[in-house]
Amino acid sequence: MPAVTWDSKLRVVAGSAAPKIEKAFGYLTVGELLTHYPRRYVEKGSVSDLGDLTIGDQITCVAMVLRSEQRPYQDKRTGRRAYRLEVTVATERDTLTLTFFDRTQHTASWRASRMKKGSMALFSGKVGRFRDGWQLVNPQTEVFEGDDAVEEADLGLAAFDAMPDLVTLYPATASLHSWQIQKAIHLALAMIEEVPEPLPEDVRRRHDLVDARTALEWIHRPDSVEQRRAAEERLRFQEAFVTQVVLAGRRQELRALAAEPRTGRPDGLLDRFDARLPFTLTAGQEQVSAEILGDLAAGHPMHRLLQGEVGSGKTVVALRAMLRVVDSGGQAALLAPTEVLAQQHHRSVTALLGDLAAGGMLGGAADATTVALLTGSSGAAARRSALLDAASGAAGIVIGTHALLEERVQFADLGLVVVDEQHRFGVEQRAALAEKAGVTPPHVLVMTATPIPRTVAMTVFGDLETSTLSELPGGRAPIQTTVVPLAEQPAWIDRVWARVREEVEAGRQCYVVCPRIGDDARRTGEETGSDEAGLTAVEELAPMLATGPLDGLRVEPLHGRQPADRKEHTMRDFAAGRVDVLVSTTVIEVGVDVANATAMVIFDADRFGVSQLHQLRGRVGRGGHAGLCLLVTSAEQGSPARERVGAVAATTDGFELSRLDLEQRREGDVLGASQSGTRSGLRLLSVLRDEDVIARARAAAETLVEADPTLGEQPDLRAAVQRLRETEQADFLEKA
Ligand code: ADP
Ligand code: MG
Repeated sequence: MPAVTWDSKLRVVAGSAAPKIEKAFGYLTVGELLTHYPRRYVEKGSVSDLGDLTIGDQITCVAMVLRSEQRPYQDKRTGRRAYRLEVTVATERDTLTLTFFDRTQHTASWRASRMKKGSMALFSGKVGRFRDGWQLVNPQTEVFEGDDAVEEADLGLAAFDAMPDLVTLYPATASLHSWQIQKAIHLALAMIEEVPEPLPEDVRRRHDLVDARTALEWIHRPDSVEQRRAAEERLRFQEAFVTQVVLAGRRQELRALAAEPRTGRPDGLLDRFDARLPFTLTAGQEQVSAEILGDLAAGHPMHRLLQGEVGSGKTVVALRAMLRVVDSGGQAALLAPTEVLAQQHHRSVTALLGDLAAGGMLGGAADATTVALLTGSSGAAARRSALLDAASGAAGIVIGTHALLEERVQFADLGLVVVDEQHRFGVEQRAALAEKAGVTPPHVLVMTATPIPRTVAMTVFGDLETSTLSELPGGRAPIQTTVVPLAEQPAWIDRVWARVREEVEAGRQCYVVCPRIGDDARRTGEETGSDEAGLTAVEELAPMLATGPLDGLRVEPLHGRQPADRKEHTMRDFAAGRVDVLVSTTVIEVGVDVANATAMVIFDADRFGVSQLHQLRGRVGRGGHAGLCLLVTSAEQGSPARERVGAVAATTDGFELSRLDLEQRREGDVLGASQSGTRSGLRLLSVLRDEDVIARARAAAETLVEADPTLGEQPDLRAAVQRLRETEQADFLEKA
């Protein structure tokens, strides 16, 4: 028989259970099986002592089935036949009765088959009295010994003695029991000749970690809690380390790639733009700009993530980078997630540039450039001229939505891609745009207003350098946020409209945000929340306000189902102060910038996520006037939805809110939809909790990859890295 290795087929150790294991978890090899770690350990001595109980106590105990008896009976309430299974089990010291009720014969006989004499299981539930002893009714049950596990003759205390002090329970399925997996794993541990060691010895020593085989032994069959902890520590570090080696390699490859250095020129567009900027850059903007211009001048592609609060002035920073590239003879593309945003960027960039953007036009400055706009709804003529300007190089800056990604969009010399509000954009789309650059890859700047915790940035965006704008430009007034709880205070809604009216009378404008567009059941991506009717809708609320509480004010609806020219028209009117109250869906979530808007009312606020509420709120308080945000909710006091809304009202610190947001989402969501489950390679490591581990692993990985870029001296690590790269995870990490 050939030696069992990490890559041996699962069948070798799992036998007839192999197809079931493959079906349940996708494992094909012994190595994959061995990385199926227990999800729970039960300490034999830690279970409840039955000697000291009161009725109603919650207990957990390991026990062995001594006797079980099935009793069919007539359910008095339904008149149907039902099944009662009475089981007597023994713990190390006591016996107790378990009673299970089942309504179908199918489940009853399945249960009876699991409660066979000699089966061992973990039971937990509330105790009651039955005859003269303790009883559990329908306890939660985890059977960890199979039908063949304990021979009749072994019944009794000897079986408990034979049990390890820590009983391991594996992630299992209805048809694949924990003990079946355990059996295969124990066989694998016994048979495998060599366990690959992806951690270099000096790394292990420096971080005081046990070796690979010991770690596997101790995670699967520890003799003590200490062993289990040591194993977990080592394996967690390993997960972080392998991921970080992939990312360090990726960063190194990027550094090795050649890109056109874009050094600009004196008295170019950038210098002239700076000279006429109506405000001074904040220290943060200065510093981040310097980092970016430094990157652009270097001979390899920039790959930078720029994060900053809503309103922190990212766009100006990005525009300066674009001008530097135009000054160097290249072009820049600015990719926006929505049409409204693309249009707004086009308006504000054109306005900021003035005659510098009037290239080829009468009154344009000498060597001015052109700013082209390309969206899905551009008319045929506008589209043709935008395509032409991009292809000829006449347009130094091309702004657009995903329409920019279409194949026929060509650039003369694409030097920089700026992606606004990254979280709305797919990674493939970003990659598609980068491919348009031709021979040398473009520099890439990704902007986000959703603060990303350091650990997530290090793991998910590990191949991006990050810059952060942490201060808001002067003149930003604070936003006061108040919850309007309709469940308890229905009359407050009148007060809401009175406040809106006051703002408008003071010369300001307001947003009203709703989760739904209207009656129509069709839903668009911009909507949030569930399909439940009863949520406030733009098309219902806008006319109601205009003829009711806001009678006399200029109220306009805005949502994603309107034709693009209508949307643009409404936005333009709102920006120009010709609309008082904009009733919209979350189309206004990102980037919309109207300095005179001071109040926002968000309906069904509990339907939005924490970060989303924060983003929305960032639309007001931009022009030096105090902002007001009213979060209207019908969620009951004390409900999680209501708490979320309350948390947003309590702080305007985006980083704190994003932490809260992440805590409420599952880890898989943070890493991306495809990252949960078995292929991510992250089983023990939490990108949210294990900041310290990730930071240490990153430093160690960086050092190693620097010294040995091909990992020539670490074949096991090379194989692990290869495996990770092959999974979707690596795919995701590389494109992020
Ligand atoms: P972000 O994209 O980060 O949300 P923007 O770039 O849209 O923020 O900036 C918000 C507003 O602040 C814009 O009107 C912009 O012109 C203005 N702004 C940017 N930088 C400054 C500054 N240093 N001083 C004053 N206003 C600024
Ligand atoms: Mg912006």
